[in-house]
Amino acid sequence: MDIASLRQRLDYLVHTHSSVFEEQILGSGLSCAMCGWCCRENFNIRITKNILRPSNAISVFPDDIRRIMKGKGLQWDEVAQPDIYSCLDDGKNIRLIGWIMQRGDNSNCVFYRNGGCSIYEWRPMICRCYPFFIGEQGIEVMHCEGKNNIAHGEKAKQMVRERSLLVKRYEMKKIRNYIGIISWMGTKLRLSELVPLPHGYEGEVIVYDGETISQRHIIVKNKMG
Ligand code: SF4
Ligand code: SF4
Repeated sequence: MDIASLRQRLDYLVHTHSSVFEEQILGSGLSCAMCGWCCRENFNIRITKNILRPSNAISVFPDDIRRIMKGKGLQWDEVAQPDIYSCLDDGKNIRLIGWIMQRGDNSNCVFYRNGGCSIYEWRPMICRCYPFFIGEQGIEVMHCEGKNNIAHGEKAKQMVRERSLLVKRYEMKKIRNYIGIISWMGTKLRLSELVPLPHGYEGEVIVYDGETISQRHIIVKNKMG
């Protein structure tokens, strides 16, 4: 992943109308049943040989965090934590890449309450897109329990139009964030060297999120994958 190829991808998306993704989304037949499956920890995903990431380690943009803070009157650290699964430790500094939603003692998203999202109106962009994302070959569909919740007619068409636009915006925002992170970190960013922070780690970390670089004192409470 380098800046030139990210810029190329961004350029492709800028010049691609979101309607090109509609057919694939419609073809999946999925419509969110609001079952909360994707808010709970269900399995771990092998990202690299060092990183096993919980399925609900939900990456969020600073904008997402600010929206939830404003909507719910919360502090930053009540909404999100540095991404403890994307750590670079050079022996002097511990650098973490981005933010994930806070997870509770049961490992579910901390806003998953009474079987639903308690911040639905302000939920992060990634949650609005799920289970659809744009991959190299077009739309990728993640595991979703909404398979039997097929939307029909105008409702389905409207959902598909909105979702196509959203996944395109999400992908573009993600790429711009990557470009920001790579610009700051340069050669320090080697994906193969990313590790998770160990459970119980307490100390200072530097967080790179594509928008800013900040220092945080954290204690890793979530059990690791
Ligand atoms: S913010 Fe809401 S929709 Fe997103 S993972 Fe948390 S509970 Fe689920
Ligand atoms: S798993 Fe699918 S149906 Fe269930 S809340 Fe997530 S997106 Fe909706």
